Amino acid sequence: MSPRTAVVGGGLAGLTAAIGLADGGDDVVLLEARPRLGGLTSSFPRASAAGELVVDTGQHVFLRCCTQYLAFLDRLGVRDRVVLQDRLTIPVARPRPGDTPRTATLRRSELPAPAHLAAALLGYRLLRPADRVRVARAALALRRVDPAAPGTDARSFGDWLTAHGQRPEGVAAVWDLIGVAALNAPAAAASLALAATVFRIGLLTDAGAADIGWSAVALQELHGTASERALRAAGADVRTGVRVTGLERDGARWLLHTREGADRHGEETVDRVVLAVPPPAAEDLAPQGTVPMEPGWAARLGAVPIVNVHVVYDRPVLEGPFLAAVNSPVQWVFDRTGPSGCREGQYLAVSLSAAHEVVGLPAAEVKARILPALADVLPAARGARVRESFVTRERQATFDPAPGQQASRPANATAAPGLVLAGAWTDTGWPATMEGAVRSGNGAVAALAAATGRTAVAA
Ligand SMILES: Cc1cc2nc3c(=O)[nH]c(=O)nc-3n(C[C@H](O)[C@H](O)[C@H](O)COP(=O)(O)OP(=O)(O)OC[C@H]3O[C@@H](n4cnc5c(N)ncnc54)[C@H](O)[C@@H]3O)c2cc1C
Repeated sequence: MSPRTAVVGGGLAGLTAAIGLADGGDDVVLLEARPRLGGLTSSFPRASAAGELVVDTGQHVFLRCCTQYLAFLDRLGVRDRVVLQDRLTIPVARPRPGDTPRTATLRRSELPAPAHLAAALLGYRLLRPADRVRVARAALALRRVDPAAPGTDARSFGDWLTAHGQRPEGVAAVWDLIGVAALNAPAAAASLALAATVFRIGLLTDAGAADIGWSAVALQELHGTASERALRAAGADVRTGVRVTGLERDGARWLLHTREGADRHGEETVDRVVLAVPPPAAEDLAPQGTVPMEPGWAARLGAVPIVNVHVVYDRPVLEGPFLAAVNSPVQWVFDRTGPSGCREGQYLAVSLSAAHEVVGLPAAEVKARILPALADVLPAARGARVRESFVTRERQATFDPAPGQQASRPANATAAPGLVLAGAWTDTGWPATMEGAVRSGNGAVAALAAATGRTAVAA
């Protein structure tokens, strides 16, 4: 008989695990506390002056090297709903007070890595020539950093960059331009191991690895709705609005306590459990002693916020799908018009990573900082009218990628039979990303299969 397996949490990690397990023949029940699937990658409707918008919880991009995420989209049958650049191209702007911004484009060539970036870096107008050479030298040295070597995780990326001759200008215009968005931390606050993983896999190993991709539809449609369809087709039981409030061993099986709505309590008995919830919920639910970590590991993983400022202009102000900004609070700005269903004007989302400083500010104050800064990097915005603007905040967007965090990331397997963990925060070697979440989901399936001697089916 097929094992009955509960997957707790319907974010990307849980969805990947649930589909992998259902494909492998498990009788799967997916329990998600919120009314919709997708976790941190979901969307919500918003009535606006520009009509009904479908707003993503935050702009998400991926890279061509996110192979397990792309395979997951293939399994869902939605690969045709993402856009993937033919060739890495990042338009960059640096504001100049009272003037048009200085612009440059980081575009890879057809050469093999790492020569594919040489021309872009050496012609990068936002840096002085000597700093371009310094950045190129550090990039070559970064290829030799082993993320798994003892001591790499304990060191900060910023410290390593300084030791490799990087000046603040190069850090701002290259390393933090990419790193803050990819790691959710500036170099000074990021682990060298995580930074080396991102830059080595993304930029320094395979020429096409860092080509950037994004969804052409709302994230809810890409992940949540498509996963629900795939899960139901594979025979899984999908229950949203059901929070798991307790988990205990019941002989050789597991007993889950659930709560639906304000006060409907229930129970579910299963053979195996995938806990794919955020770290505090995982530490709370996993019976004591099952996760081989010192108590308090979830709090030690920390949380870093991401804030998005959404702006609808009465006309197009951004050419192309996105723009990155240097020496500006804007960081990255994306055109959301198509995916959101915006029919008039142009809808932009400004993505602010590592947003400790702004996450607690009132929306009016965040907008007062970002809207003028946006006009500084997008001259066309200066004459345009803002029809609508609002702010979304994800306070626990990612775990803190600080030096030394590796020790607080548990593996998929636990000490308890039939109980595994999944989540972008588990020990995938990747920062908290969609790829990391999907890898952790596949890792959870493999860990369960290893325990029973079955072959895992990757979603
Ligand atoms: C604003 C923002 C921008 C981002 N940008 C990018 C990007 O550009 N590229 C990228 O790759 N990554 C990005 N990320 C990170 C990426 O979204 C996450 O790493 C990934 O989605 C995490 O998936 P997960 O399944 O591990 O966790 P989650 O998505 O947090 O899923 C956990 C799920 O568990 C549910 N849950 C919690 N407790 C219970 C309970 N007791 N019972 C039942 N269910 C429960 C939650 O409701 C949630 O649905 C971004 C994140 C944010 C917030």
